[in-house]
Amino acid sequence: MRRLLAGLAAAATAAVMLMPALPAHAAPDASKPLAGKVILLDPGHQLGNSNPRFSKQMAQKKFNGTTVKGCNTTGTATNSGYPEATFNWKVAKRLKSLLEQQGATVELTRDSNSYNAWGPCVWNRAKQANRIGADIMVNIHADGAPAKSSGFFLLAPGLVKGWTEDVVKPGRRLAKAMIAGMKAAGAPPANYISDQLMISNNTTGLNFSNVPTVTVELGNMRNAGDARRMTSKAGQRQYAQWLLAGIDRYFAKN
Ligand SMILES: [Zn+2]
Repeated sequence: MRRLLAGLAAAATAAVMLMPALPAHAAPDASKPLAGKVILLDPGHQLGNSNPRFSKQMAQKKFNGTTVKGCNTTGTATNSGYPEATFNWKVAKRLKSLLEQQGATVELTRDSNSYNAWGPCVWNRAKQANRIGADIMVNIHADGAPAKSSGFFLLAPGLVKGWTEDVVKPGRRLAKAMIAGMKAAGAPPANYISDQLMISNNTTGLNFSNVPTVTVELGNMRNAGDARRMTSKAGQRQYAQWLLAGIDRYFAKN
């Protein structure tokens, strides 16, 4: 028996030696499902957009395919004054690190959340996605709707001739995957937007993008329950996890 085992071992060794060497990248790392993916996260607005010092910069305007719109806006806030810009920033930072843990390369559209900084303009945020050849761009926002409205929904680009033909289908695909993934992970769906999806012909950041892109309204800052979650550390972590689940759902098939 011993001798037989030794013989088998020798045969196994010989078989291994006959096999061609595997290139180092042959085995995908299951813990890094997003390896090779480039993701641009856009934390909507900037604290300094409300700083009068920057009113000139904020007043810049551009045609977006349907309307002439401004550089950027201040965003909304909770009833107690917690700014949307800060919420978007905190969730984006957390999400960035979660995505990087899964192997993605992640850029943000702004590098601070400061009353002494403005913009960048929404069209430049989209141009960043185009420039770096992002696989997707996810714009992170929160809504300021009537108090009874709650939950998340997404905006995907609608058809604007000469502008969005390239992103309508992939944007819809990204939106649907993210909605499904976020709901499955437990994110409360909006109770005021049917199927949690709104198609927009008029969102500058979506229209300027040449990569699959969506805007996520994570919740309603004017709703007491959503506001509580949005202003707590645990809640912000939860929103980042939900977004991660949505993005993972998309890349599992794309
Ligand atoms: Zn916003």
